[in-house]
Amino acid sequence: MSIQENLLGLVKEIPRACKLIVVSKTQPLEKIREAYDAGHRDFGENRVQEMTPKYEVLPKNISWHLIGHLQTNKVKYIAPFVSLIHSVDSPKLLVEINKQASKIPRIIPCLLQIHIAGEETKFGFSEQEVLELVHSTSLEGLQNIAIKGLMGMATFTDNKEQVRREFRNLKTLFEKLKKQVLPESVKMQELSMGMSGDFIIALEEGSTMIRVGTAIFGQRKHP
Ligand SMILES: *Cc1c(COP(=O)(O)O)cnc(C)c1O
Repeated sequence: MSIQENLLGLVKEIPRACKLIVVSKTQPLEKIREAYDAGHRDFGENRVQEMTPKYEVLPKNISWHLIGHLQTNKVKYIAPFVSLIHSVDSPKLLVEINKQASKIPRIIPCLLQIHIAGEETKFGFSEQEVLELVHSTSLEGLQNIAIKGLMGMATFTDNKEQVRREFRNLKTLFEKLKKQVLPESVKMQELSMGMSGDFIIALEEGSTMIRVGTAIFGQRKHP
């Protein structure tokens, strides 16, 4: 199957209200161009060193999504052009994003990454930490960030019930926050969850953005 055929098949399964982020990490420019020529404009990368050169040579109407762990010392390279940072996992990172955004100046849209998987290694806030963050005064000074919602990654497992439970917990937290009185810079609009192996479940559980690579481009050589 070609990239275009994979994309066509995928788009049929996704409701219109949900956005497909084409995860182009490790993919060469010509493959990204194929997806671009098929009409896709939202691309996800997990490394700054890879996203920045791709941004420089590819068409400027692409929206670039940073989906992987972001080190504070790398924020400055993507601040001018990044469309949405899905992987904000600490208050310290939020402060740095705000600092770099204010130099440009622009407002950078962000999602807070929530630790929903059973695995120890995943980055992200706990439910308690995120509740504390959105109700703390520390957000008040951060005028150059806009928190648009939450992101989460389920456990990498064949246990579909476990994956569903994790996504459902994230959706519950999302809805809980939505009902609360939040600072002006926080709006619960986007719920980024679902990858190649679990996006069907994520959609059933209320995802508004799925991040899909393998199901479009095939297996990556260096995952
Ligand atoms: C690589 C990656 C994806 C896409 O994974 P696939 O299984 O190839 O669809 C989604 N989200 C994040 C954070 C990733 O690092």
